[in-house]
Amino acid sequence: MEKKEQLYEGKAKKVYATADPDKVIVSYKDDATAFNGLKKGTIVGKGVINNKMTNMMMKMLEKKGIPTHFVEELDDRDTVVKKVQIVPLEVIIRNVAAGSFSKRYGVPEGTAFKSPTIEFSYKNDDLGDPLINDYHALALGLATEDEIETIKKMAFAVNDAMKQFFSHLNIDLIDFKLEFGRFHGQIVLADEISPDTCRFWEAGTWDTTHHTSLDKDRFRRDLGGVEDAYKEIFKRLTEGE
Ligand code: UDP
Repeated sequence: MEKKEQLYEGKAKKVYATADPDKVIVSYKDDATAFNGLKKGTIVGKGVINNKMTNMMMKMLEKKGIPTHFVEELDDRDTVVKKVQIVPLEVIIRNVAAGSFSKRYGVPEGTAFKSPTIEFSYKNDDLGDPLINDYHALALGLATEDEIETIKKMAFAVNDAMKQFFSHLNIDLIDFKLEFGRFHGQIVLADEISPDTCRFWEAGTWDTTHHTSLDKDRFRRDLGGVEDAYKEIFKRLTEGE
């Protein structure tokens, strides 16, 4: 399958049309941004890792019965996916307090939850992706009630599958962001699942005073070893194959 015209360029990916109106090609870049685009940089090799890792995750989740947009990996950076209409919600699942949750609610990072949480942000860069609830999403017509229910069920199912998967790699899945799309009326998991969109902490070594991040927090927080963290995650993923 060949790339036709570029349809879109985002912060970390480009999207191209194909001869098939139901399919597009996603091309992963090394560009990194944080804080709604205020911080910019390059993480060498990130595009390749995020492409391959996302595809591994999508395949694993399909096997668990979760429908995704994945079609076929073309090469190191490029993947054919179903052309979906993205639901303009960022769906965040958390197992342990970190990042914006810790700030907003005054809970130390590294506080484990009794049960996972879900939250939605309205995907809108101009507004800085504000937190919204189900009723806001319904009122704004961002998704139907059925779609919101499906998204919640799928997001928790993704969490169960991913938590288990990463525990075998000695990694704790702290939190992550998902996006969903509509494909011929069906809700499918879309976008990426990578160290850009998940918090991964080295298992068994963290508490509320310390943790070792193997994810984009190394870039966001200037912790150093950014490329090595992405490589380490990828190494464990491929060794576990
Ligand atoms: N996240 C993301 N894109 C965003 C915001 C968050 O992929 O625009 C991911 C982030 O990597 C983390 C989770 O969602 O794994 C929760 O992020 P949080 O709300 O704590 O925001 P942050 O502290 O990253 O600003």
